[in-house]
Amino acid sequence: MRRKMAAGNWKMNGTQASLEVLDRLKTAHVDSSCDIVICPPNPLLIPAADRCTGSSVAIGAQDCHAEFKGAFTGDTSAEMIADSGATYAIVGHSERREAYGDTDAQVCAKANAVQNGGLVAIVCIGESLTQREAGEALPVLKSQLAGSVPAGSNGANLVVAYEPIWAIGTGKIPTLDQIAEVHMALREELVGRFGAEGGNIRLLYGGSVKPGNAADIFATSDVDGALVGGASLKAEDFSPIIDALATS
Ligand code: PEP
Repeated sequence: MRRKMAAGNWKMNGTQASLEVLDRLKTAHVDSSCDIVICPPNPLLIPAADRCTGSSVAIGAQDCHAEFKGAFTGDTSAEMIADSGATYAIVGHSERREAYGDTDAQVCAKANAVQNGGLVAIVCIGESLTQREAGEALPVLKSQLAGSVPAGSNGANLVVAYEPIWAIGTGKIPTLDQIAEVHMALREELVGRFGAEGGNIRLLYGGSVKPGNAADIFATSDVDGALVGGASLKAEDFSPIIDALATS
């Protein structure tokens, strides 16, 4: 049985004042049946993790360098993320793939570092609108999955987020049938590669998840939760999404 997960990616948004959102989530979702994760910008990792100690809310980073340490100005290692008290790290978000040129191989190396650092990797994959319209979504996603997921992955150290690029921040989402088709294909790939353990790896949907569409998305087969951008910035938006997941 896979535990459901609601993960929020704050991207480059938020200051220390924004951490009151965490207080509201902690209070509203005591003993939640879902894993709740917030990924704030790096300067907020320590205060966020301190604030959430012993609560139902876990903290994650939004990226992680593949190397353990060294001359990589501006970057953050898995050891540093773990030392902050965070327990997750997103890697391979399409914004980093597009803006920084992260390849599948680099995403895989980052995910490997995350896992070796004792953290859970949330590996993002997603097709562009051009690829979707050309009927290439499934082969593209299978290739990204194969290239981005490390060999040592299992249900405890990996979460995969399917995030169609054209759905991120646009208010558009795929049809529920399209989401189901992708998640079924990803599940088959994971089981094909990892055997029964592939059935333990959680599959999140991400891209314009809102309180109004969350219940339908969570009712879709093989959707174990969501990776949420904009709607994770405010407790009044993220809380109903967590509630929809808990009751799905
Ligand atoms: C994201 O960037 O991971 C995301 C899903 O964003 P949004 O929910 O705002 O579409």
